[in-house]
Amino acid sequence: MAAEPSRRVLLRAALLSPAALLATSGCSREPAVLVTGSAPVQQVTAYRDHAERAVGLVEDLWGEGTVARPVRLDLPGDTARWAAVTGHPAEETEIPASLVSRGGVTTVVVHPGAWERLTAQGRQAVVTHEVTHLAQPEAEVPWWLREGTAEFTAHRSGSADPSLVAGQAWRQLAADPPARWPQPGAAGGRWATYAAAWSVCLVVAAEHGDEAVPRWHRAVADSGSLDEGTRQALDRTDEDLLRAWSAWWADQAPA
Ligand SMILES: [Zn+2]
Repeated sequence: MAAEPSRRVLLRAALLSPAALLATSGCSREPAVLVTGSAPVQQVTAYRDHAERAVGLVEDLWGEGTVARPVRLDLPGDTARWAAVTGHPAEETEIPASLVSRGGVTTVVVHPGAWERLTAQGRQAVVTHEVTHLAQPEAEVPWWLREGTAEFTAHRSGSADPSLVAGQAWRQLAADPPARWPQPGAAGGRWATYAAAWSVCLVVAAEHGDEAVPRWHRAVADSGSLDEGTRQALDRTDEDLLRAWSAWWADQAPA
Protein backbone atom coordinates (compact mmCIF):
# COMPACT_ATOMS: atom_id res chain seq x y z
CA MET A 1 0.00 0.00 0.00
CA ALA A 2 1.36 3.37 -0.98
CA ALA A 3 2.18 5.83 1.74
CA GLU A 4 0.32 9.13 1.56
CA PRO A 5 2.16 11.63 -0.67
CA SER A 6 3.71 13.91 1.96
CA ARG A 7 4.99 10.91 3.89
CA ARG A 8 6.41 9.40 0.74
CA VAL A 9 8.27 12.60 -0.16
CA LEU A 10 9.53 12.87 3.40
CA LEU A 11 10.94 9.35 3.22
CA ARG A 12 12.54 10.03 -0.10
CA ALA A 13 14.07 13.26 1.13
CA ALA A 14 15.40 11.50 4.20
CA LEU A 15 16.89 8.63 2.24
CA LEU A 16 18.48 10.47 -0.65
CA SER A 17 21.87 12.10 -0.46
CA PRO A 18 22.15 15.71 -1.72
CA ALA A 19 23.70 14.36 -4.91
CA ALA A 20 20.68 12.14 -5.48
CA LEU A 21 18.33 15.05 -4.81
CA LEU A 22 20.29 17.00 -7.40
CA ALA A 23 19.75 14.24 -9.91
CA THR A 24 16.02 13.98 -9.29
CA SER A 25 15.26 17.70 -9.41
CA GLY A 26 14.26 18.99 -12.82
CA CYS A 27 13.80 16.93 -15.93
CA SER A 28 16.29 18.38 -18.43
CA ARG A 29 19.91 17.32 -18.76
CA GLU A 30 20.98 19.92 -16.21
CA PRO A 31 18.99 19.75 -12.97
CA ALA A 32 17.24 23.08 -12.51
CA VAL A 33 17.12 23.33 -8.74
CA LEU A 34 19.04 21.96 -5.77
CA VAL A 35 17.36 22.39 -2.39
CA THR A 36 19.18 22.14 0.94
CA GLY A 37 18.20 23.02 4.50
CA SER A 38 16.04 21.59 7.24
CA ALA A 39 12.65 23.17 6.46
CA PRO A 40 9.63 20.84 6.57
CA VAL A 41 9.24 18.68 3.49
CA GLN A 42 6.05 20.47 2.39
CA GLN A 43 8.08 23.68 2.14
CA VAL A 44 10.96 21.98 0.37
CA THR A 45 8.59 20.71 -2.29
CA ALA A 46 6.77 24.02 -2.69
CA TYR A 47 9.93 26.13 -2.86
CA ARG A 48 11.50 23.76 -5.36
CA ASP A 49 8.44 24.23 -7.56
CA HIS A 50 8.67 28.01 -7.08
CA ALA A 51 12.35 27.97 -8.07
CA GLU A 52 11.76 25.84 -11.15
CA ARG A 53 8.98 28.16 -12.24
CA ALA A 54 11.19 31.17 -11.48
CA VAL A 55 13.87 29.95 -13.88
CA GLY A 56 11.29 29.93 -16.68
CA LEU A 57 9.90 33.34 -15.75
CA VAL A 58 13.34 34.92 -15.55
CA GLU A 59 14.59 33.41 -18.79
CA ASP A 60 11.40 34.46 -20.57
CA LEU A 61 12.49 38.06 -20.02
CA TRP A 62 16.30 37.89 -19.71
CA GLY A 63 16.89 35.19 -22.31
CA GLU A 64 17.38 31.44 -22.53
CA GLY A 65 20.35 30.15 -20.56
CA THR A 66 20.83 33.30 -18.47
CA VAL A 67 20.23 31.43 -15.20
CA ALA A 68 23.05 29.01 -14.43
CA ARG A 69 21.89 25.54 -13.30
CA PRO A 70 21.38 24.35 -10.74
CA VAL A 71 19.70 27.17 -8.84
CA ARG A 72 20.73 26.52 -5.25
CA LEU A 73 18.04 27.10 -2.67
CA ASP A 74 18.70 26.89 1.06
CA LEU A 75 15.75 26.65 3.44
CA PRO A 76 16.96 27.14 7.03
CA GLY A 77 14.57 25.54 9.50
CA ASP A 78 14.82 28.33 12.06
CA THR A 79 15.90 31.97 12.41
CA ALA A 80 19.15 31.10 14.21
CA ARG A 81 20.25 29.10 11.20
CA TRP A 82 19.03 31.87 8.85
CA ALA A 83 21.14 34.39 10.78
CA ALA A 84 24.17 32.11 10.71
CA VAL A 85 23.93 31.57 6.95
CA THR A 86 23.03 35.09 5.82
CA GLY A 87 24.63 37.30 8.46
CA HIS A 88 21.32 39.11 8.96
CA PRO A 89 20.11 39.51 12.56
CA ALA A 90 17.98 36.58 13.73
CA GLU A 91 15.17 38.99 14.67
CA GLU A 92 15.12 40.47 11.15
CA THR A 93 11.71 39.88 9.59
CA GLU A 94 11.62 42.35 6.68
CA ILE A 95 13.93 40.37 4.42
CA PRO A 96 12.14 37.33 2.97
CA ALA A 97 15.18 35.94 1.16
CA SER A 98 18.82 36.73 0.60
CA LEU A 99 21.61 35.76 -1.76
CA VAL A 100 24.74 34.30 -0.21
CA SER A 101 27.91 33.79 -2.26
CA ARG A 102 30.71 31.62 -0.97
CA GLY A 103 33.57 30.12 -2.90
CA GLY A 104 32.05 31.14 -6.21
CA VAL A 105 28.74 29.44 -5.39
CA THR A 106 25.65 31.62 -4.97
CA THR A 107 22.69 30.34 -2.98
CA VAL A 108 19.20 31.76 -2.52
CA VAL A 109 18.47 31.55 1.21
CA VAL A 110 14.81 31.87 2.20
CA HIS A 111 13.78 33.23 5.61
CA PRO A 112 11.96 30.51 7.57
CA GLY A 113 9.20 32.98 8.47
CA ALA A 114 8.40 33.73 4.82
CA TRP A 115 6.28 30.58 4.67
CA GLU A 116 3.84 31.90 7.26
CA ARG A 117 3.93 35.56 6.26
CA LEU A 118 3.49 35.24 2.50
CA THR A 119 0.89 33.76 0.19
CA ALA A 120 2.00 31.22 -2.40
CA GLN A 121 2.00 34.05 -4.95
CA GLY A 122 4.13 36.15 -2.65
CA ARG A 123 6.63 33.32 -2.15
CA GLN A 124 6.81 32.84 -5.90
CA ALA A 125 7.58 36.55 -6.34
CA VAL A 126 10.29 36.41 -3.66
CA VAL A 127 11.99 33.41 -5.26
CA THR A 128 11.68 34.88 -8.78
CA HIS A 129 13.19 38.14 -7.52
CA GLU A 130 16.24 36.31 -6.16
CA VAL A 131 16.60 34.11 -9.26
CA THR A 132 16.55 37.30 -11.37
CA HIS A 133 19.68 38.42 -9.52
CA LEU A 134 21.35 35.25 -10.81
CA ALA A 135 20.63 36.34 -14.40
CA GLN A 136 21.68 39.97 -14.01
CA PRO A 137 25.12 41.14 -15.17
CA GLU A 138 27.73 41.17 -12.44
CA ALA A 139 28.96 44.68 -13.25
CA GLU A 140 27.82 47.37 -10.81
CA VAL A 141 24.67 49.33 -11.51
CA PRO A 142 22.75 51.66 -9.16
CA TRP A 143 21.17 49.48 -6.45
CA TRP A 144 17.66 50.62 -7.37
CA LEU A 145 18.16 49.47 -10.94
CA ARG A 146 19.32 46.04 -9.77
CA GLU A 147 16.40 45.71 -7.32
CA GLY A 148 13.90 47.36 -9.65
CA THR A 149 14.54 45.01 -12.56
CA ALA A 150 14.34 42.05 -10.14
CA GLU A 151 11.00 43.26 -8.78
CA PHE A 152 9.73 43.90 -12.28
CA THR A 153 10.64 40.36 -13.32
CA ALA A 154 9.15 38.90 -10.13
CA HIS A 155 5.76 40.52 -10.63
CA ARG A 156 5.62 40.60 -14.42
CA SER A 157 3.47 37.47 -14.76
CA GLY A 158 1.27 38.27 -11.77
CA SER A 159 -2.22 39.54 -12.32
CA ALA A 160 -2.37 41.72 -9.22
CA ASP A 161 -2.27 45.48 -9.56
CA PRO A 162 1.11 46.87 -8.39
CA SER A 163 -0.67 49.26 -6.04
CA LEU A 164 -2.21 46.25 -4.29
CA VAL A 165 1.05 44.29 -4.17
CA ALA A 166 3.02 47.20 -2.72
CA GLY A 167 0.14 48.46 -0.53
CA GLN A 168 1.08 51.19 1.90
CA ALA A 169 4.42 51.82 0.17
CA TRP A 170 2.56 52.58 -3.04
CA ARG A 171 0.18 55.01 -1.34
CA GLN A 172 3.12 56.83 0.26
CA LEU A 173 4.81 57.27 -3.10
CA ALA A 174 1.61 58.40 -4.80
CA ALA A 175 1.03 60.96 -2.06
CA ASP A 176 4.55 62.34 -2.41
CA PRO A 177 5.88 61.68 -5.95
CA PRO A 178 9.68 61.20 -5.96
CA ALA A 179 11.81 63.88 -7.60
CA ARG A 180 15.07 61.88 -7.66
CA TRP A 181 16.05 58.27 -8.11
CA PRO A 182 15.22 55.91 -5.22
CA GLN A 183 17.54 56.25 -2.25
CA PRO A 184 18.37 53.39 0.12
CA GLY A 185 17.14 54.12 3.60
CA ALA A 186 14.69 56.78 2.38
CA ALA A 187 11.46 57.54 4.25
CA GLY A 188 8.89 54.77 4.07
CA GLY A 189 11.28 51.91 4.75
CA ARG A 190 12.52 49.04 2.68
CA TRP A 191 9.31 48.29 0.81
CA ALA A 192 8.82 51.90 -0.23
CA THR A 193 12.29 51.96 -1.80
CA TYR A 194 11.70 48.63 -3.55
CA ALA A 195 8.30 49.77 -4.80
CA ALA A 196 9.90 52.95 -6.11
CA ALA A 197 12.62 50.96 -7.88
CA TRP A 198 10.02 48.61 -9.36
CA SER A 199 7.93 51.51 -10.62
CA VAL A 200 10.85 52.92 -12.63
CA CYS A 201 10.83 49.67 -14.60
CA LEU A 202 7.04 49.82 -15.02
CA VAL A 203 7.52 53.18 -16.72
CA VAL A 204 10.33 51.85 -18.92
CA ALA A 205 8.21 48.83 -19.88
CA ALA A 206 5.14 50.96 -20.60
CA GLU A 207 7.08 53.31 -22.88
CA HIS A 208 9.63 50.92 -24.46
CA GLY A 209 8.29 47.38 -23.96
CA ASP A 210 9.13 44.70 -21.37
CA GLU A 211 12.27 43.56 -23.19
CA ALA A 212 13.71 47.07 -22.78
CA VAL A 213 14.03 46.45 -19.03
CA PRO A 214 16.86 43.86 -19.19
CA ARG A 215 18.36 45.65 -22.21
CA TRP A 216 18.54 48.87 -20.17
CA HIS A 217 20.05 47.08 -17.16
CA ARG A 218 22.72 45.47 -19.35
CA ALA A 219 23.53 48.72 -21.14
CA VAL A 220 24.02 50.53 -17.82
CA ALA A 221 26.19 47.66 -16.56
CA ASP A 222 28.26 47.50 -19.75
CA SER A 223 28.80 51.25 -20.01
CA GLY A 224 29.26 51.79 -16.27
CA SER A 225 27.05 54.86 -16.56
CA LEU A 226 23.33 55.35 -15.95
CA ASP A 227 23.17 58.19 -18.46
CA GLU A 228 25.17 56.41 -21.17
CA GLY A 229 23.31 53.12 -20.69
CA THR A 230 19.95 54.89 -20.79
CA ARG A 231 20.90 56.64 -24.02
CA GLN A 232 22.07 53.39 -25.60
CA ALA A 233 19.13 51.22 -24.55
CA LEU A 234 16.24 53.70 -24.48
CA ASP A 235 17.49 56.53 -26.70
CA ARG A 236 16.85 59.17 -24.05
CA THR A 237 18.74 60.78 -21.18
CA ASP A 238 18.42 59.53 -17.63
CA GLU A 239 17.13 62.99 -16.68
CA ASP A 240 14.35 62.65 -19.23
CA LEU A 241 13.45 59.25 -17.80
CA LEU A 242 13.51 60.68 -14.28
CA ARG A 243 11.04 63.37 -15.33
CA ALA A 244 8.77 60.79 -16.96
CA TRP A 245 8.89 58.64 -13.82
CA SER A 246 8.06 61.58 -11.53
CA ALA A 247 5.17 62.55 -13.79
CA TRP A 248 3.94 58.95 -13.75
CA TRP A 249 3.81 59.03 -9.95
CA ALA A 250 2.00 62.34 -9.98
CA ASP A 251 -0.67 60.59 -12.11
CA GLN A 252 -0.97 57.83 -9.49
CA ALA A 253 -1.98 60.29 -6.78
CA PRO A 254 -5.50 59.66 -5.49
CA ALA A 255 -7.97 62.18 -6.87
ZN1 LIG B 1 17.07 41.87 -4.53
